[in-house]
Amino acid sequence: MANLSFSYSKMSTYKECPQKYKFRYILKIPEKPKYYFAFGTALHKVMEFMYANLKPPFPPLEETLKFFRLDWQKTSFAEKGYASAQKELEGYEEGVKIIEAYYKKHEKDIFNPLSTEFRTTQEVDGLSIISIVDRIDYLGEGKVSILDYKTGKTVKREPDQLLMYQKLMSQSPQLLKLVQTKDPSVEKVDVANLLFYYLPKLDEQIYTPAPKEEIDIFWQGVLKVADNIKAEKFSATPSELACKFCDYKDLCPVWKNKKAEDFAQVNAEEKSLSPLEALAKKIDELGTLQTDLTKLKQEVIKEMQTLKLQRHFGKEYNVVLDEQEHLSFADEQAVIDLLRKEKLLNKTLVPTIETIEDLFKNEQVTLEQKKALGALAKKIKTCDLKILKDI
Ligand code: SF4
Repeated sequence: MANLSFSYSKMSTYKECPQKYKFRYILKIPEKPKYYFAFGTALHKVMEFMYANLKPPFPPLEETLKFFRLDWQKTSFAEKGYASAQKELEGYEEGVKIIEAYYKKHEKDIFNPLSTEFRTTQEVDGLSIISIVDRIDYLGEGKVSILDYKTGKTVKREPDQLLMYQKLMSQSPQLLKLVQTKDPSVEKVDVANLLFYYLPKLDEQIYTPAPKEEIDIFWQGVLKVADNIKAEKFSATPSELACKFCDYKDLCPVWKNKKAEDFAQVNAEEKSLSPLEALAKKIDELGTLQTDLTKLKQEVIKEMQTLKLQRHFGKEYNVVLDEQEHLSFADEQAVIDLLRKEKLLNKTLVPTIETIEDLFKNEQVTLEQKKALGALAKKIKTCDLKILKDI
């Protein structure tokens, strides 16, 4: 049986909605052109053009702008997915500004690209995986830096994409051959860092490679997706965001019996609530969210502990386990009596767990007093989650 043809975009489409994967990759129903894809593709081509020589300097700015203009003119605004010729012109002007700014910032850089638009097809674990890396720089001693250009409004960390690059590039025979042209003694490629370069802001985000355990867990997930595809599991997983922008909505079984009027009716019902009823509804929603949040947090903590991870990343957020040790006193009266006897009550102001914990750090409290307090205490571990938004 032939290996399943696979890629990062195929995987992310399947994860978004298996039914969408079926429409796009099995039934090969084309989607409507999207202007942001056309804009991104045009800028990627410009970058490839600029770095074509793999050594400084860039071609003159005028030449690059001409390349961009001629390529841009090959398709109409509708083919690119713009709503009007005016919008297309705005896109073009934005592209020119980005290219000019890129020149200004990087024209004099000393850079060492090993490859641009590095295309490979690797056979791994029954999958035939196609990948295109925007740029690979050589850092010496077998180390490479993988760079991906981003052209959207905001840059999101895409952990799956980073992990996929790291896994594939570190074991790519083609990349190893390329590295050996620089340094024949290298036996293994080391992906030393991964970069998202956000072109509209000329901003780069550097990520350090993930540990082997994280790559292994990620890879199990990839193989699971591939198994589901091979087993033709294409059930729809509708969600507000995915369905809103899905081109296959008219064909989708989930939406077959739902009409715009159904949603209009729900909206109308919500609008007819009195202010007090609307507030009561929000309070209930808030309570439900809080319960769900606590439950979800506990699940994430448990899974991170099982996988022995201190930190993990979503697309827009990352979380860090916040483990702390606290004291717990079963017999509160015994503690008060001890503090009174040892004349320590005045040092706590109000005896709370925190003020008593402070006594253990207080140099005026003797070792014996600390021991006596410690004998009444039990250490308990708590674990919370810090949720941080990627910048
Ligand atoms: S409309 Fe929603 S459920 Fe249907 S294919 Fe698209 S994303 Fe999936």
